[in-house]
This record gives sequence, structure tokens and C-alpha cells, in this order.
Amino acid sequence: MKIGILGAMEEEIHLLGRQMTDSSSEIRGKREYLHGQLFGHDVYLVFSRWGKVAASATATTLIERYGVDYLIFTGVAGGVDPQLNIGDKQDLIMQVTSEALKEFAISAPKVVCGTIASGDQFISSSDKVQQLREKIPNLCCVEMEGAAVAQVAYEYGIPCLVLRTVSDKADDDAIIDFPRFITSVAAFFTCGSVLRLLKEW
Ligand code: SAH
Repeated sequence: MKIGILGAMEEEIHLLGRQMTDSSSEIRGKREYLHGQLFGHDVYLVFSRWGKVAASATATTLIERYGVDYLIFTGVAGGVDPQLNIGDKQDLIMQVTSEALKEFAISAPKVVCGTIASGDQFISSSDKVQQLREKIPNLCCVEMEGAAVAQVAYEYGIPCLVLRTVSDKADDDAIIDFPRFITSVAAFFTCGSVLRLLKEW
């Protein structure tokens, strides 16, 4: 089985790439596709860039050119469900400093399975969150790529997993929270999740 892993964070792809063995790379369409072994799995790893067009173009290349038969998309998302806290969706704390955990008030991160909405905009408004929750009552979080990858996977008849770490609450503070969280917490969380998934597969 060939697994295609798309990430929306360069930092995370870098961390995962460092764990790969027998790796080689190819540049196509302004993306670097890394090919190698991760815990005995044949993996293609790529930084997808952001938004639905970027994610679907990358997913299609992984399928058409590299013949992957499983897609995993990882990244961060804005938590819309009030039960979700920054740092959630992950059960593995990997190399995250205690200062970073304290800064983002992460004490007991949890993993949940739920509805994700994708759109080509960064949501940073409490009013928008409210509107979205009215339209999609069971909505967990919002992001910009997952549905595009899921649609491509569906059309090619292959399985797909979207894995997100909650980086912000999609409210008026979202922009402030975002960049520091990516480098100090999220990249390690998502990298840790993918490694754990592959190890136990
Ligand atoms: N750093 C990039 C933009 C990142 S876009 C730049 O400067 O251009 C935001 C990324 O985080 C996307 O991958 C998206 O899926 C996710 N994301 C996190 N919080 C989000 C939110 N509140 N609304 C929409 N997307 C969010």
C-alpha cells in the first residue's frame, strides 16, 4: 500500500521528513514530493499549501502520478465546538516545551471525531462562528482543505483521513493565536499523530 500524506504546515512536513528513510524527492507544480519509508510504510509526503484548490491539485497528483491508495491530510483548524480547546485532537505530546503548553493553557489535550467544515477563508470572527453553528449544528471545527481532499479521494474511490489540531477558536483572537501555536505546538502534535498512526497500522 502507498500512503499519501499531505500537510498544511511546512514545519510539520519537515519534522516528518526527518523521520523518513530511503528518501528521494521530486518537484512538481511548485510542490516537493518526498518519497520514502516511515515505520515500514511506503509513504509520499508533501506540503500541500493552503486552500481547496491547492489541496485538491496535490491530492490528484499523489493519486495520478504516484499511485497512492490512501490519503491522510494533517494540519490545524479553528475549533468551533465550545467543548474543544486549543491543542485538542491529539493524545501525544511530542517535544513540546512546558512553556508552550503553559502559554496555550494545554493541560489534557483530547482526541475527538467529528464534523469539519472547509472553505477558502480563515475564520476569525465570533459572529461567523455563530452563523456556522446555526447552519451546521454538530460542527466541530473549520479549516481550508479537508473537504477538497475528501472529494478527490471519493471520486477516485480511495480512503481518506483528515486529522486536525485545534490551533484557534476561529473567533476574533484567532489571528493572534495562530503563528506561534504552529511552530511551538501544532507541528509536533500533528507529526506525532501521524507517526503513531503509521506505527500502529
Ligand atoms: N500561513 C498561511 C495561511 C495559513 S491558512 C499564510 O500566511 O498564507 C490557515 C491554515 O490553517 C489552513 O491550513 C487552514 O486549514 C487552517 N486553519 C486554522 N484555523 C483556521 C480558521 N480559524 N479558519 C480557517 N482555516 C483555519
